[in-house]
Amino acid sequence: LVEYKDVHKSFDDVEVLKGINLTVAPGEKLSLIGPSGSGKTTIIRMLMTLEKPTSGIINVDGTPLWHKEVNGELVPADEKHLRQVRGNIGMVFQHFNLFPHMTILKNCISAPINVLGVPKEEAEQRAKEMLTKVGLGDKLDSYPAQLSGGQQQRVAIARAVVMRPKVMLFDEVTSALDPETVGEVLEVIKDIAKEGEMAMILVTHEMDFARDVADRIVFLEGGKIAEQGPPQQILENPESDRLQSFLERFR
Ligand code: ATP
Repeated sequence: LVEYKDVHKSFDDVEVLKGINLTVAPGEKLSLIGPSGSGKTTIIRMLMTLEKPTSGIINVDGTPLWHKEVNGELVPADEKHLRQVRGNIGMVFQHFNLFPHMTILKNCISAPINVLGVPKEEAEQRAKEMLTKVGLGDKLDSYPAQLSGGQQQRVAIARAVVMRPKVMLFDEVTSALDPETVGEVLEVIKDIAKEGEMAMILVTHEMDFARDVADRIVFLEGGKIAEQGPPQQILENPESDRLQSFLERFR
């Protein structure tokens, strides 16, 4: 479904990603872990086409997001394809980015109606179902500012899932939350992961969560994938010293 081939990314003179090779199968749940600055966010931002690789190939559904030009510069694939790709990818950020002037329900129906062309009634039904699932069925007419951080983040998750993307990207979605609301958000993600056919890439510093939700954990270090494997192997039998010392911090 998603494929990175020898992807490099530099910001000015600094090479942040140094040859990433990574595939994500349909429905696969992948946790991306690693020290601050190792390039985790950059990897998923490139999939959303928010960043452009310096070199390498990123395929979604077998089609590249960027084409190589004659002079070696990468240029985006045609707009129609990019729109289609973006439509297949949902993202939840650290900061929830809800529309402040819209009710919770409106927040969740606006993209299905305006981007996918889903009829209003169906969009409302989908959104109500999803908001109920994340425990906010009684808040449909509230505004974001009336909710706690954890509740807002659950709305952001519902809003992404109602688009029925093939891949969901979660970028440290609990790191801006009060400690007491972290658990409720992680539970919601676990529930969605369990039932979903959606693939997920989760950047997280919550190791127990990574273990529970992921089929595979990828450890990124210094712009490279240093180690990857099933959660148990990565968390309990890390091979490299670097992964061992990284994990020590969470003990
Ligand atoms: P964290 O866990 O702290 O979020 P990360 O592993 O997600 O870190 P990235 O956010 O991908 O790391 O950043 C990797 C490196 O790239 C960092 O050194 C960062 O400062 C740099 N970087 C990211 N985006 C930009 C940008 N737009 N311009 C310049 N440098 C950038």
